[in-house]
Amino acid sequence: MNVFRVILALSIVGPSLAFVVGGDSTSLAYSTRLSSAAASTADDLVKPAYEIEPIPVRIGHGFDIHRMAPIQDAGQPVVIGGVTITHKDVKWTDAEGKYVEKGEKYETQLGVVAHSDGDVIYHSIVDGIFGALTLPDIGQVFQDTDPRWKGCDSSKFMEYAYEVMEGYGYKIGNVDVTLILERPKVASFKPAMKENIVSLLHTTPGRVNIKARTHEQVDSVGELRSLSCHVVLTLERNT
Ligand SMILES: [Zn+2]
Repeated sequence: MNVFRVILALSIVGPSLAFVVGGDSTSLAYSTRLSSAAASTADDLVKPAYEIEPIPVRIGHGFDIHRMAPIQDAGQPVVIGGVTITHKDVKWTDAEGKYVEKGEKYETQLGVVAHSDGDVIYHSIVDGIFGALTLPDIGQVFQDTDPRWKGCDSSKFMEYAYEVMEGYGYKIGNVDVTLILERPKVASFKPAMKENIVSLLHTTPGRVNIKARTHEQVDSVGELRSLSCHVVLTLERNT
């Protein structure tokens, strides 16, 4: 356990918070110096009032969805699994009639509407890890009203989730990602996404899977107005 790295990672959620690590990887004690109400969210995350039992395997599920819009409206590109998805113009359904007749298709470059960079894979994985550990969800920890997270690179959230997981004595068992979006096409970007996930979670390619599928042209995902992601993962207790 690298104490410095944990303290460094936690500094992103509150400067008045610090871990004190016990004698081995399975014993962890916390020391919080919470001087303001602003730090209470982080305190809730790292120090629940009950024991997180050291069972051998924990299962987590994560889901995320973000709106997509013409890039001039979104203000940022489509980023998935840490990869910027470059693409040709696609046929986005203009549900509000801003560019063409309401409900008609508008050919455009797309971006993701989000407070952070809107990375649905990273957000789903972080939520899955927090879920497996019975910790608060990503929205509570990284609140979208907090200016610190505006336009934030979501790899920061992944690094944070990894450090918390490691702090509780767990590593990744395996991760199964189901990305759902109609367009842009992402098949050619999957190897780079996988490499990013493997690196951020300090695991191996044989433990990370990414599946991508369309939404059969129906509902907001099928109309290119949103993209979503499901993640199922397991955590293994470190021995
Ligand atoms: Zn998200």
